[in-house]
Amino acid sequence: MPESRYLIKNGFVLDNKRAEFIKEDILIINEMIAEVGVNLKDEAAQVIDATNNLIMPGLVNTHIHLWQAGLRGIAGNWTLMDYFNYMLDSLGDQYTPEDMYMANLLGALEQIDAGVTCVLDWCNNLNTQEHAYWSLKGLEEAGIRGVFGYGPPGIDAAKWWFNSSELHPPKAKEFFENYFSSKDGLLRMALALRGPDSTQDDVLFKDIKLARDLDVLATMHIGIRSKWGVKKIYDAGLLSEHINFVHANNLAEEEYKLIVDHGASISVTPEVEMQMGMGFPATGKLIRAGGYPVIGTDIASNIEGNLFTQLRFAIQMQRGIDNQLILNNDKMVEKIELSYKNSLDWVTSLGAKALGLGNEVGKLIKGMKADLIIIDTSAINLWPVHNPYESILFYVGRHNIDTVMINGKLVKQNGKLLYANLPNLKEQIMESSARILHDAKILDLKEHYIFKHK
Ligand SMILES: [Zn+2]
Repeated sequence: MPESRYLIKNGFVLDNKRAEFIKEDILIINEMIAEVGVNLKDEAAQVIDATNNLIMPGLVNTHIHLWQAGLRGIAGNWTLMDYFNYMLDSLGDQYTPEDMYMANLLGALEQIDAGVTCVLDWCNNLNTQEHAYWSLKGLEEAGIRGVFGYGPPGIDAAKWWFNSSELHPPKAKEFFENYFSSKDGLLRMALALRGPDSTQDDVLFKDIKLARDLDVLATMHIGIRSKWGVKKIYDAGLLSEHINFVHANNLAEEEYKLIVDHGASISVTPEVEMQMGMGFPATGKLIRAGGYPVIGTDIASNIEGNLFTQLRFAIQMQRGIDNQLILNNDKMVEKIELSYKNSLDWVTSLGAKALGLGNEVGKLIKGMKADLIIIDTSAINLWPVHNPYESILFYVGRHNIDTVMINGKLVKQNGKLLYANLPNLKEQIMESSARILHDAKILDLKEHYIFKHK
C-alpha cells in the first residue's frame, strides 16, 4: 500500500480532556493520527483546509439494527409488541442473504453520512449462516469501523424471545473462527444475546459464557419489562466490562450501581424508548449511580440515524424529568441539574470504550486511529458560533458534516459520500424492500408511496 498523508489545517479540534475545542492542526499518516498541534508542517501531505471548522472524533453509535435500513418509515406507530409481531415474525422471514447485504450496506453508508465512523450493528435476523456472511460483507463494503453483533434469527419470536430455552445459535462460534480469529481489519464481533428478559436462566448463563470463551463483547436488551436481570448476571459472577446493556430503563437502583462498579455499559436509545413503551431513558439513574450513558439510534425502520439527535434527546429528556420533579413540589426550577459538559464523550470516547475500542478510537490524539469528522460552521443553522460545544449539541444536522475520515481514509468529502455505487444500491434496495413488504402481507402499503428516483 502506498503511504497516505493528510494535514488538516486551522480547524478547532475537540479536546476531550478539557471538553473544549482548541485551534490545532492534525497530521495523519496512513491509518494513524501522527501528530496534533499548532503550525504543523509536512511537505508530502495533502492539505485539508478546515479554517474555522470544527473537528471531532467520528461518532460511535453503540446500538443500531442496520438490517432494517430498507424499511424506513413503517414503524412510527408501533409499540414494542408490534415490533416483535411484525418485524421478527413476518418481515424478517422475507429477507434473503442479499437483502441483508444491501440493507447493511445502505444503513452503514447512511451512518457515515451522519458522521458515525463506528457502529455496533445488532444483527438479529440471521436466519442462516449466509445471512450472517452477507450482513458482514455489507459493513465491509461500506468501509465503516465497528462491531458485528451476531444475533438470533429474525423469525419465530415466540421461540426465541419469550422465556426461551434455545441457546444462542452455536454457529456463532464457527463464524467467529472463520472471520474474526485475527484482530486485523475494521470489524470485530460481539454476541448479540437475548438476555435475562427473554431467555431461561441456564440459557442466559451459557450464552454469556460463550461470549467469554470467544473473548467478545456480549450485548443484550434489558430492563424494559422487569428488574433484576443484571443482578442475576452479577450473582452468577458474569458481570464485567465485556457486557453492554441496551435500554435498561426500569432496573432496580442497585443494578445501575452494579453496572457502574463492574465497568459494564448501557446504551440509551431515547427516541425509540419513548415511543415504544419502554419507559423514560436511564440517563439520570445511571449518572446518579456514578456512570454515564452511551448512545444508540436503534431500529433503522423507525428512527433516523443521526446520533447527535439522539444525544440531544438524552440530555433534554433527562432535564425534563428532573425539572418536573421540582415543579411537582410547587417550586420554580432554579438550576439545570444535568450539565451538557463532557456529553460529547458519550458518543465518542466512552462509546468506543463500551465497545472495547477505547484504545483505538474516540479521541483525537497521537497514536489513535484516524476516525474523525469535520463540521462546516459556515452553514446558516450554525452561524455564528459562540460556543462550539453548544453549536454541535443543540444545532448541528447531518448536512453540516462536511468530511468524514475512517482509518485515515476519506469516506465523505465536501458534504458528499464518496461511495461510488450509491445510485445502483438505491435501485436495488428499492426492489428488495418493496418485495419484502409485499410478501410479508402485514402492512397496508399504498403502491404509489413507493417512490422511484433516478
Ligand atoms: Zn435494539
